[in-house]
Amino acid sequence: MSVLIGTWKMSLTGVGGSARLLADGGEAGDAVEQAIVCVEDEPAFTSVGYGGLPDREGHVMTDAAFMNGTTLRLGAVMSVESVRSPIRLARRLCGRPTNCVLAGHGAEQAARAFGLPFRDMRTEAAMRRWREACEQAALDQEVYTGHDTVCVLALDERGHMAAGTSTSGLFMKAPGRVGDTPLVGSGFYCDDRYGAAAATGLGEDIMRGCLSYEAVSLMRRGADPLTACREALGALVARKVALGEGCGSMSMIALAPDGSFGAATTLPVFPFAVGRDGAAVLRAVGCADPAIRPVTEAELAEAD
Ligand code: ASP
Repeated sequence: MSVLIGTWKMSLTGVGGSARLLADGGEAGDAVEQAIVCVEDEPAFTSVGYGGLPDREGHVMTDAAFMNGTTLRLGAVMSVESVRSPIRLARRLCGRPTNCVLAGHGAEQAARAFGLPFRDMRTEAAMRRWREACEQAALDQEVYTGHDTVCVLALDERGHMAAGTSTSGLFMKAPGRVGDTPLVGSGFYCDDRYGAAAATGLGEDIMRGCLSYEAVSLMRRGADPLTACREALGALVARKVALGEGCGSMSMIALAPDGSFGAATTLPVFPFAVGRDGAAVLRAVGCADPAIRPVTEAELAEAD
């Protein structure tokens, strides 16, 4: 059996393509990489890769990670400015015994050494959004603080699993800011024996609960992926509330070695893509209704 899941509506096309790859006997790692590249290359998806959200200084800085569930090796890059496909770079670093997590200049040097393509990740639309936010900030108005990550988890016919993440992080973030996306245990974790998990939402909150490792750890202790997501996220939310904070904006997905999957969110609706038998569909969970269900037409029109 092969299954893959991806965060948000933006992952649907890529998850569909990778579901076909897996159905033809492809590898989990290739499925993850291909699905994420599909999102990174599409400028209409404004929180990942080309056309992503600029930081305060108007640079589109990306973070990405890849983890192999068989070897527990990982690769991650952060604050990378002009590597066309950050997930490809993260995957190329995965497997190195040292220097597998690189930031900024060093990551770009590695991309050059691997012969990976570079591109100016700023689109006109991204720069227009940035200029408008600068004008609002000058007027002391709230600037849009959008963000989202494409996370993909895959299980192939041979029982191998892989996880990948990619984002441009928070809109108008401080130069050098890094979220949970490239941080193992927070943004992603993957172990063939117990399952894989990944998170999207405000990285500064997600990393406080090491949400992805926590979910995989719960699966190791016997939880199914839906329970693992709910308990990992629920425990962090309960702690935040006890500290007098709000629930925050966080969502997670998890996939078990038997192909079952789960998700949880603090949002009213969190759509995610599920790929099986060569095709992909959208599913959703919500904070008030945590059961996995199809996405309605109205939600589809609004979804990221
Ligand atoms: N987790 C990402 C970050 O904090 C953003 C997101 O997934 O919404 O950079």
